[in-house]
Amino acid sequence: MFTPHKTIGILGSGQLGRMIVIAASQLGLRTHVYAPDANNSPAGDIAHERTEASYDDHAALALFAGNVGAVTSEFENVPASTMTFLAQHCVASPGQAALHTAQHRIREKSLARDLGIKTPRFWHITDSADLTKAMTELGGDGILKTCQLGYDGKGQVRLSENDDLEAGFASLNTNDAILEEMIPFQAEASFLVARAIDGSLSSFPASLNEHKNGILRRSLAPAALPDAVINEGKAAVSALAEALDLVGLLALETFVTEDSRLLFNEIAPRPHNSFHWSIEGCETSQFTQLIRAVAGLPLGGTSCYGTWQMDNLLGEDMGSLESLANKAGLHIHLYGKAEAKTGRKMGHTNQQISSKPIA
Ligand code: ATP
Ligand code: MG
Repeated sequence: MFTPHKTIGILGSGQLGRMIVIAASQLGLRTHVYAPDANNSPAGDIAHERTEASYDDHAALALFAGNVGAVTSEFENVPASTMTFLAQHCVASPGQAALHTAQHRIREKSLARDLGIKTPRFWHITDSADLTKAMTELGGDGILKTCQLGYDGKGQVRLSENDDLEAGFASLNTNDAILEEMIPFQAEASFLVARAIDGSLSSFPASLNEHKNGILRRSLAPAALPDAVINEGKAAVSALAEALDLVGLLALETFVTEDSRLLFNEIAPRPHNSFHWSIEGCETSQFTQLIRAVAGLPLGGTSCYGTWQMDNLLGEDMGSLESLANKAGLHIHLYGKAEAKTGRKMGHTNQQISSKPIA
């Protein structure tokens, strides 16, 4: 007999937190959202309880920890020390090692390399002299990124050999950066695995992702890629989850090169935008699977109901809501955000595009 924890704590107040709250509620669990902006937020609005406090407010964290049976995080930039503190009181997902590693692009790529997972060539860049040297070694196009806190393609600059490297480095406004070789990929694929408290693993069908201006626009699943590539991605994300002793979800973003090699891009120890199709498209959605993992329930099955397409609704797409609402079979998910800014993720739609997987 399984006894789920009564209240699931969620660090973060955005759309991922909101969908975690919904999944928890479906299983009869209560939720408590903790974030510096918990009030009037996508997750805070629908949680049973909320605490608006900073992630290093140990008095507020202690009260929160005393109220929840397990804690999970909707984003990787919660201080790893917060997770360590919470882990003394309750089940803490994804865990300190997963956060610490996923917070830094050099750390996550180094772990991948140590596990034998191929990555684009990369260099740690701390000043513009490092950048000049690395660009010479690279001998082609590169992409310079901040090591920490980047999302939706922010904190990145694309560089060619003849560009003004000093200006490129200065534009990032940090001395902790990474230069990666630019990969001319045929596709971007993501992989997702859930890992339970007892260490059992369950992976989802892979997604194929299309980005525009650094922002994910569309995902298609299950990804129509050769079996060998799919199996390699699933093995890689499982190996990473085990190495990090993770509880919850781990997503892996990859590039599939023109000659069908799989290269690690980054990991995210949380639900991932490219798996939102799993809400209607999968036997167990990524959000339900996360709740199952942290509440000590057995992981659910991940069979896919045909082929699915997920489209993000950005601020600039909100004008087409009425016509979308008229489309049969289109599942609309909105995050309850008041202000529709350009590029802001306001919601997404899911639709089954075939009752069979794409061959
Ligand atoms: P997100 O929050 O959307 O996951 P991010 O800001 O963390 O993104 P990345 O995933 O590193 O940043 O990069 C965003 C996108 O930029 C990638 O999905 C890919 O389309 C492109 N990109 C990043 N790195 C490379 C690379 N080395 N070669 C080619 N394209 C790249
Ligand atoms: Mg990314």
